[in-house]
Amino acid sequence: MALKYTRPRGTQDVLPQDSWKWQYIEDVIRGTARGYGYGEMRLPTFESTDLFARGVGDGTDIVAKEMYTFEDKGGRSITLRPEGTAGVARAVLENGLLASSPLPLKSYYIQSCFRYEKAQKGRLREFHQFGIECFGTHEPVSDVETMLVARDVFKKLGVNDSITLEINSIGCPKCRPAYNQKLREYFESQREELCPTCKQRLEKNPMRILDCKEEKCQKIAAGAPVMLDYLCEDCTTHFEEVKNLLAEADAAYVINPRIVRGLDYYTNTVFEFIAEGVGTQGTVCAGGRYNGLIEQFGGQPTPAVGYGMGLERLLMLMEEQGKLPEEKQGPLLYAVGQSEAGRKAARLLVAGLRNAGFPAEYDLANRSVKAQMKAAGRLNAAYTVVLGDDEVSSGKAVLKNMETREESEIVLAEGASGFFSTVYGPNAASVGIIGTSGGYIAAQAKGLSKAEKLETGGNNG
Ligand code: ATP
Ligand code: MG
Repeated sequence: MALKYTRPRGTQDVLPQDSWKWQYIEDVIRGTARGYGYGEMRLPTFESTDLFARGVGDGTDIVAKEMYTFEDKGGRSITLRPEGTAGVARAVLENGLLASSPLPLKSYYIQSCFRYEKAQKGRLREFHQFGIECFGTHEPVSDVETMLVARDVFKKLGVNDSITLEINSIGCPKCRPAYNQKLREYFESQREELCPTCKQRLEKNPMRILDCKEEKCQKIAAGAPVMLDYLCEDCTTHFEEVKNLLAEADAAYVINPRIVRGLDYYTNTVFEFIAEGVGTQGTVCAGGRYNGLIEQFGGQPTPAVGYGMGLERLLMLMEEQGKLPEEKQGPLLYAVGQSEAGRKAARLLVAGLRNAGFPAEYDLANRSVKAQMKAAGRLNAAYTVVLGDDEVSSGKAVLKNMETREESEIVLAEGASGFFSTVYGPNAASVGIIGTSGGYIAAQAKGLSKAEKLETGGNNG
């Protein structure tokens, strides 16, 4: 069969057998961001095109070639967000958050972004970013805090050891013009060797030549003067403090004077987290300080720092290194119905488990007992119970542990709690596994796998 419709190039379908990986990563991110006091922002997927033209910068690849821009039916120019910072800065101003919230204002997002790029491994047209933005302080401790959030996420996901934090400082409007002048002189002397784009950058923004991906430009850039040698006293002190605080937090870093952000509103710290072995798509996270952006958007001068982390690249790294948890957990129970009364009993028992926050299933397709057992196996259910007229009339049924094949009797009238005391032991209720929604998570948090019993009488708290 020839497919009538296929997904657009550079996009992905995340299917139920894989979505748990995303949920896992997102749970870790949300938990970490919450722990550091960052609040989530959920913003529009599209914004007016000007916002990105100004907020990302006309000279950038993003604005020059990568934006999904279209005219809506009202004749407005609209763009699907290619990154997160511009939208967050817009929302901060539009909602008056700098006046109404305690400062610094700490926000994060997890969202899809869109860029018309040559699709390849680790480079998509619709991809996902976790980003954080912190507004209202110039203190180095805030730069470092944002980096620590990323570092903690990498640690919790088991990939921190293969990711290097690279940092640099690109100075401020006080010290950068003199450096730009030196840089211009340097590149001017080798103008003929530069790629056509860099020839243009030479006039407007020589710093961006340092970021060019062309090999010949990179070679020339390797000998260029570096901003670190031209920082003013304030910027030197700021950078020193960033380094001290990273050391204090035991966060390893290297200084890479080639990391730049080519726009005027970027100042001071810039950084990237780079993964080994992911090839040219090794930058998992990139960010920096952008003290000039809010003012450029018409607000009061407001220092800010933030970054974007590419979640496809992060997941790729975890998969390559086998860092994802073992398997998706199946339902704790599959209750098989053998007769009409048995199916009703199955629904009742399953409802009790679901109420307590434990995944459980019954048949939705009016299948035979054999087919239901097969379904339970395919779903990787931890326990099964077969309920027919005999079980309903005797009020007792046999619970089967699908891993050990061990069988035990449960009393149907006790419902879910009868099931729980059989599975987790008689004191399951007293340690809070039963009776709260999210009980399954509570059980896992206590280190219990789906088939493990709590010790009775012992100290399990
Ligand atoms: P690159 O140099 O790889 O093109 P970039 O400088 O364009 O990256 P940023 O705009 O700094 O990237 O975005 C932050 C992060 O988002 C990147 O470090 C990367 O992890 C991720 N990212 C950017 N573009 C894509 C894409 N097209 N597909 C997947 N992830 C992306
Ligand atoms: Mg790019």
